[in-house]
Amino acid sequence: MSDPIFVTRPFLPPLADYVALLEQIWESRILTNGGPFHQSLEQRLAEYLDAPEVSLTTNGALALEIAIDAAALSGEVITTPYSFVATTHSIKRGNLRPVFVDISPDDFNIDPDAVERAITPATSAIVGVHCYGNPCAVDAIEAIAKRHGLRVIYDAAHAFGVRLNGRSVFQWGDMSTLSFHATKSYNTFEGGAIVNATAQAKQGVERAKNFGIASEDAIPLVGTNGKMSELNAALGHLQLDHYEEVRALRQRVDERYRAHLNGIAGIHVPPIPRGVTANYSYFPILVLPEFAIDRDQLYDRLKQAGIVSRKYFYPLLSNLPMYDSLPSAVPENLPIANQIVNQVLCLPIYPGLSDDDVDRIAEFITHAHNPVRVRA
Ligand SMILES: *Cc1c(COP(=O)(O)O)cnc(C)c1O
Repeated sequence: MSDPIFVTRPFLPPLADYVALLEQIWESRILTNGGPFHQSLEQRLAEYLDAPEVSLTTNGALALEIAIDAAALSGEVITTPYSFVATTHSIKRGNLRPVFVDISPDDFNIDPDAVERAITPATSAIVGVHCYGNPCAVDAIEAIAKRHGLRVIYDAAHAFGVRLNGRSVFQWGDMSTLSFHATKSYNTFEGGAIVNATAQAKQGVERAKNFGIASEDAIPLVGTNGKMSELNAALGHLQLDHYEEVRALRQRVDERYRAHLNGIAGIHVPPIPRGVTANYSYFPILVLPEFAIDRDQLYDRLKQAGIVSRKYFYPLLSNLPMYDSLPSAVPENLPIANQIVNQVLCLPIYPGLSDDDVDRIAEFITHAHNPVRVRA
């Protein structure tokens, strides 16, 4: 049997290129605290992402916590139950109350009508997630936020390099956060960033990520340590050099899957929404009731065949023990999210996943559906 195919495999630049940068770090002995690689990567990412002001962080989870902290929110925060657990945890860890609203079945993102219905006098912000890189209904959310005086923070961990109608997704919201974890389409081993709409907001974030220190003799905030080291920032430069290559390799996998899987009864392949420049970070499919087997059975059979897919996202965050007693967590409030968590499966996608492997995975799914093969 061949080696297992994992859901992702991180891209790495040539080691010699990294060693050359390590030599510079050894030479300068500047290891962290906003060193030259950190400074220049913030600049480069701001340009590359068309993002107003970038602050690098240790990881995506701290980016969220620091953004929420710097935004000085209070009371309730409207958010999605359909995300990675860090999204809701960051709200809870900021001593705020998450209020879950349902998602749209088209893009898996918070439904703006549901957001508006959930607003109370205690609401201070909306935390949306650009799920699988599909931009949220950014214009509708902006209009709602303006009408009600709310802040908007996007968890853009999936949305590196994503554009909507030619415009960077980082042009919307008061802040957006990124993750550069090993599993993401742009990685610095561990790492993250906050995109701030203004230079003033960036200043607040810089303090919050550096213990709340404003100057040598002034510490006005209860901050944390969320700085990115020079090791990660140096790697980030090399990863950025290769990003368009990585995106093109992922796109190739995405298109090959679609050619195989579109049209299989019971398998829904969500199209890339119109106007979106995608990054092909994930390849989610929905296993519908009319398919021969259910999602969990397909997951198990793929695994037995050495193909590791991922129930991403599962379980639904509103069903976790620390959130399930919130009034907004009742399944009747979140019917679409509760349905999709039981149907979704993310298939392996990464630069270098071979055409043969994509064909084998698609073939396997096609046969799982084929009644002749299933009977045999
Ligand atoms: C990966 C991810 C995070 C957390 O990022 P880390 O860098 O792993 O801390 C947060 N939100 C979403 C949606 C993610 O996918």
